[in-house]
Amino acid sequence: MKQYITQDPWSIVETDFHRDYNEITESLMSLGNGRLGQRGNFEEKFTGKTLQGNYVAGVYYPDKTRVGWWKNGYPEYFAKVLNAANWAGIDIDIEYESLDLATCEVRDFRRELNMREGYLERSFVAVLRSGKEVKVNAKRFCSIVDDDAGAIRYSLTPLNFDAKITVTPYIDGAIRNRDANYDETFWDEVRKETGYGEAYIELRTRKTGFHVTTGMCVEIEQDGQKMDYQSQPIKYEKYVANRMTLDCQQGQETVIYKYAVNLSSLNHDSDELMRLAHEAIARVSRKGFERMLFEQKQAWADKWKMNDIVIDGDVAAQQGIRFNIFQLNQTYTGEDERLNIGPKGFTGEKYGGSTYWDTEAYCLPFYLATADQKVARNLLIYRYKHLQRAIENARKLGFRAGAALYPMVTMNGEECHNEWEITFEEIHRNGAIAYAIYDYVRYTGDESYLTDYGLEVLIAISRFWSQRVNWSAAKKQYVMLGVTGPNEYENNVNNNWYTNYIAAWTLRYTIEAVGKVKALNPDKYADLCERIHFREEKEVQNAQHIIDNMHFPYDPERQVFLQQSDFLDKDLMPVSDIPKGQRPLNQNWSWDRILRSCFIKQADVLQGLYFFEDEFDTDTLRRNYAFYEPMTVHESSLSPCVHSIQASKLGMKEKAYEMYLRTARLDLDDYNNDTEDGCHITSMAGTWLAVVKGFGGMRVDAEGLSFSPYCPENWQGLAFKIRYRGALLQITTTQQDVTVQNFSVQPVTLRVHGETVTVAGENKQTIAMPVLA
Ligand code: BGC
Repeated sequence: MKQYITQDPWSIVETDFHRDYNEITESLMSLGNGRLGQRGNFEEKFTGKTLQGNYVAGVYYPDKTRVGWWKNGYPEYFAKVLNAANWAGIDIDIEYESLDLATCEVRDFRRELNMREGYLERSFVAVLRSGKEVKVNAKRFCSIVDDDAGAIRYSLTPLNFDAKITVTPYIDGAIRNRDANYDETFWDEVRKETGYGEAYIELRTRKTGFHVTTGMCVEIEQDGQKMDYQSQPIKYEKYVANRMTLDCQQGQETVIYKYAVNLSSLNHDSDELMRLAHEAIARVSRKGFERMLFEQKQAWADKWKMNDIVIDGDVAAQQGIRFNIFQLNQTYTGEDERLNIGPKGFTGEKYGGSTYWDTEAYCLPFYLATADQKVARNLLIYRYKHLQRAIENARKLGFRAGAALYPMVTMNGEECHNEWEITFEEIHRNGAIAYAIYDYVRYTGDESYLTDYGLEVLIAISRFWSQRVNWSAAKKQYVMLGVTGPNEYENNVNNNWYTNYIAAWTLRYTIEAVGKVKALNPDKYADLCERIHFREEKEVQNAQHIIDNMHFPYDPERQVFLQQSDFLDKDLMPVSDIPKGQRPLNQNWSWDRILRSCFIKQADVLQGLYFFEDEFDTDTLRRNYAFYEPMTVHESSLSPCVHSIQASKLGMKEKAYEMYLRTARLDLDDYNNDTEDGCHITSMAGTWLAVVKGFGGMRVDAEGLSFSPYCPENWQGLAFKIRYRGALLQITTTQQDVTVQNFSVQPVTLRVHGETVTVAGENKQTIAMPVLA
């Protein structure tokens, strides 16, 4: 854990330059707008620790798989969102000395990610080896108003010298992914152009053939006046730049404005990209930096109006939740159903920018409650469109008759992961995709989704489960052998309780959905049955037999569900017994030692009790929590949020708060010693859940919407907004009461701490906190 980030309610601030942590800070200070994004790299050259990162959503490369022993069924490639052309670079040379913070003395350093207004700012004084001192202030953003564009204002002031300063703004496409399996380059150059203060480069991805054109233009100001300059165009392989040498006087500020655009063939005809990039550059430079920044601030203000969570009395907690909400909004806007949410978003290469079960299990509820309904629907449609590939994927593994196994990791619907214990065995992901359909329909009431798309996916997933279980003659029950549950610190186990449960639940929900669709739209139902050869009677009967006879490992003595059949054979001990300095385990222990230990990477049984809480009483949750929480190391970012929600439900306020801080500040404090790889974007939705479902106690069930909110002891207040079936509500909780404000015109009826209240349109109502017996 590291605590060098200044606590501030609206900004992520680093004062003093922490060279050794630079890759962590670059991750934290990442910028994005849903279509493009980049790490918080420096504009000027930096020869110290850095991971250059620029990404264009949806543009990927099928990197050739690297494995030890090839197994039938492995995918050929691992799709990766590519590290794309760096458009932020501006080299600065002061009379033959490069400005490079790795080699000079740095004073008054400060960098700030301003989350309220959506920009990154950095200021410092650099003392070069020659003794020259130069003051720099750099501000940049990825526009959320014009999502092809980014802009930089880079100001230089010599403090103790007059000199000619050479400035080289560039676009560098000679980029490699650090995580490339064979150190290949993924880009080919198509064409490039330079003009007065302008440069363009078009690159094409190998194999996938995406074209991306990046353009830039530069303006210079001295003494607040735009100035003409001589510019020397530079072109190398995959690199374009404009070099200009400027007379700079002591105390005189020179400002370089750099505008950049990135356009891809995902959205445009590739023959048109160069022309469109010229047009886009003309558009943004005409608008100018200040106007663009003004619009950026307005647009972020609008987002915050809908999305902000206010915590009164705890800056660390406040900064954490805003950071999580900010990064989620930077990553995914939901406008394009071909895109999804990679676990690292635009903040790093790890996980390849691909889609995981994280989207359905964690992110969907965030977008359901904070964005237009179509955003969550688009996330579901993404998987619907991949259904045929999921069926093919299952067929490759030997499943039949339209059974679908969604991939563990995917970009276009094909499986990308290739470790047998995950690819073939971590099949619980299939359940999360079914659960997301249920979650969406329950939250929105949009049952037409089942008719149009949902049922087809459910049937295909259920067909997979029906074939994946087998009848155990010894147990006289159905079992599921050779699986990996959410806890990846156990592989190839039998009867992971969570997997067995979600499988049986999917079968149940599918039968329910069949009934619904049949009643809602018999014609469409008949068409579907014919199209996918669904033999209702037989398939439902078979599913019902599995539901009625599924094996769920259980310990009658402790009265807890067992994570897997042999869990009790392990040497059970609490995390507190792990000697100091050995965590995170995955960075200190051999994999063999981890697998045999009882330590749990992430919520597993507790994940199931979270999803299916209506099916278990609170005592069951309490017993399982007391058993599993002490053995959980939370080395997946997806874990502490679930434990926080459960602790809130159990009234364990201190634990809920501890787990909240852990999820909310996971990256800010680098809990798992891995933020340098990028931020944990998908678990950020889990942080939101820990507030809204945990502290806020929000639930949606057959009776509608309800809250049972409380504030942790050190908070004076908590306020969050949610959208629910056309209404916008704000729930404000203090230690004394709860106020529900209804911003919509229609009245809303809901339950607060069990009491039914109707809040009239554009009105609010305050309810006293119940006195606990
Ligand atoms: C977790 C998975 C998760 C993946 C991507 C892994 O460490 O164990 O559950 O899907 O990270 O976030």
